[in-house]
Amino acid sequence: MPRPAIDGPHTQYYDSYVCRGFLQSRTSLTITVAILICLEAPHTHSPERRAILLTRSIRTLPVVEKWDCQCCGLCCHGNTIILDKDDLSKLRSQQWEKHPEFRGMKTVVRESLLGARRVLAKRADGACVFLNQEGRCRIHESYGAVAKPAICRMFPLQIVTLDHTSLLTLRRSCPTAAADHGRTLDKHLAPLKRSGLVDRFASSA
Ligand code: SF4
Ligand code: SF4
Repeated sequence: MPRPAIDGPHTQYYDSYVCRGFLQSRTSLTITVAILICLEAPHTHSPERRAILLTRSIRTLPVVEKWDCQCCGLCCHGNTIILDKDDLSKLRSQQWEKHPEFRGMKTVVRESLLGARRVLAKRADGACVFLNQEGRCRIHESYGAVAKPAICRMFPLQIVTLDHTSLLTLRRSCPTAAADHGRTLDKHLAPLKRSGLVDRFASSA
């Protein structure tokens, strides 16, 4: 199973309210997740904007939200992991083509035939190419949590940026987040700030 990243791996970009009606259909869920991942891909900000995001306070919501990754692996199946420049550079330096189990296998592919964006390859069953038989992330096993793509490290945490503040909240598509299991979100703030992920994931509300 995938191991915790900064404090949990992973990625699924859809909102529980949006998807409530789709949960009975795995196919519909997969399509919905892929579409919404695309809408929330990591993006870059201007240096000024980045500076603001890095220095401004990030607050949790005025409700208690709890989460700690339980390594269920759900977010490593059927999702599209979009890779940014940093992710691609890390993956290149990891030289997966030299690992015996990845020889001759693509780990990064184009998102679509004509698209420029690169994503992690998937296995035939829709699982991430790096998810091993034991349900663990091979990148994490070999190189540690910080070596994984940013989306994997961030999920299910999300930052919503308002005019004068930023809010840290959870994506409820993670079953552990939906069940409010784990530490309260304020405990995740410090590691998140240290991780360098804040500016990559702050989104305008
Ligand atoms: S879905 Fe949630 S609990 Fe399961 S592996 Fe992903 S982050 Fe961890
Ligand atoms: S790289 Fe793949 S296996 Fe690893 S955490 Fe991300 S989605 Fe899961």
